[in-house]
Amino acid sequence: EKRESKIHMERGLLIILSGPSGVGKGTIRKYFEKDERLNLAYSTSMTTRKPRAGEVDGKDYFFSTREDFEKAIQEGGLLEWAEFVGNYYGTPLKEVNRLRDEGKNVLLEIEVQGAIQVQEKCPDAVSIFIIPPSMEELERRIRGRSTEPEEIIQQRLAKASNEMKMVSQYKYIVCNDDPKLAAELIKTIILRHVELEENK
Ligand code: 5GP
Repeated sequence: EKRESKIHMERGLLIILSGPSGVGKGTIRKYFEKDERLNLAYSTSMTTRKPRAGEVDGKDYFFSTREDFEKAIQEGGLLEWAEFVGNYYGTPLKEVNRLRDEGKNVLLEIEVQGAIQVQEKCPDAVSIFIIPPSMEELERRIRGRSTEPEEIIQQRLAKASNEMKMVSQYKYIVCNDDPKLAAELIKTIILRHVELEENK
């Protein structure tokens, strides 16, 4: 029996990374995702938002029309989805399942409503919420990178303070004072869960 369990490949973990927009999720992710010990695969989301400068279709997001997105919802093709500042965002289910079946730990970078849906479906998901060192710093970062009109920036800021109230929905909270340090903490969290899973 022991031998069989060794041949049988473990299904990968689901890792949820959330935090208000502008908190630095992408930067932190770049510091840890290439660590081979983590055995990670990034799940590319589908969105109806227009691409920002430099974003690549199929890599950063699958950019889609509202019509195609709604079709994906109806067909049950999404693990979770949410509307965020006027656009749809969702996680394609098939790809997540395929990667997990291959033994990959799948990383979802999603907002709070989606994170709640995933944790309801998969209580074993490892959920991590990144907080900014202060709200002033967050505003500075959101304004710094945005090419969007003031109205949208205001909506993102309001959304950010609401999201900050949802930290209790997550297993772990990591402060992004320093992205490299935050990445190290996240690595430790993921490795610990991989270890727990192996010893089950
Ligand atoms: P942005 O427009 O800044 O790329 O993303 C806006 C928010 O949507 C971010 O908090 C981002 O993490 C979240 N997001 C990205 N992809 C998904 C997804 O597939 N599902 C959900 N629920 N949120 C997502």
